[in-house]
Amino acid sequence: MVILDYICVLIVIKLFLKNELRLFLQDLVYFAGNYLNQEVPTLATILVVEDERPVCDLVRAYLEKNLFEVEIAFDGYEALKKSAETNFDLIILDIMLPKADGWTVCREIRKSSSVPIIMVTAKAEEFDRVLGLELGADDYITKPFSPRELVARVKAVLRRTQKAGQEKHEVLNYPHLTIDRTANRVEVAGQEAQLTPKEFELLWFLASHPERAFTREQLLEVVWGYSYFGDARTVDTHVRRLRDKLRPAGISYIKTIWGRGYKFEIKEN
Ligand code: CA
Repeated sequence: MVILDYICVLIVIKLFLKNELRLFLQDLVYFAGNYLNQEVPTLATILVVEDERPVCDLVRAYLEKNLFEVEIAFDGYEALKKSAETNFDLIILDIMLPKADGWTVCREIRKSSSVPIIMVTAKAEEFDRVLGLELGADDYITKPFSPRELVARVKAVLRRTQKAGQEKHEVLNYPHLTIDRTANRVEVAGQEAQLTPKEFELLWFLASHPERAFTREQLLEVVWGYSYFGDARTVDTHVRRLRDKLRPAGISYIKTIWGRGYKFEIKEN
């Protein structure tokens, strides 16, 4: 039995070193949330254009696990049809496709949309960077890729493009609360409130998604970043400070959802 314990400890250390344990715990939290039949919000809707079904299934599973909503198109025509019908937040586009290839699809989509596109290529040398850039692709990934790498790329591209997009409409107005991201300024009942950068990001994210509950783990990931190995209590501390700073408005904007996390709502005290 001692040997068994020893092996178990070794496995745990190995998993931890490979960062697997953190991801495993994240998955556990996610599945526990699902099990309790609570709403799991999606962070973005992604169109995956891919003709190989096993790849589709794998990509879909990983993206959904990471809170993305996924739509699939199996050929170039279907991709064009679906992208015209729905405003996707991002498109993952295979190059070798039936009916119309990825280059054609990318070119067509760019005529009417600036949706972020990640192109998927079988070999790195096949990917023509210049052509990719000219056609307006935002990034590319080489097959075979690890689903985790794909998810990281998706998040990086979304972060980049959403930041660029937010520069156009960066003010949120709520009763007695104005959050101006361009000026990095928050006004509570007409008075400027002094927020730390993380408090600001947290408030901005919650206020950008009113009436949606997020777990502490989701907020950590969104506000503190993909690689942050943090304690969920960090979120509680920041929420507490935010509430103090928002108090002059007389409205409790950030609601605690017991056993789940937080949501932004307008409810006068
Ligand atoms: Ca293909």
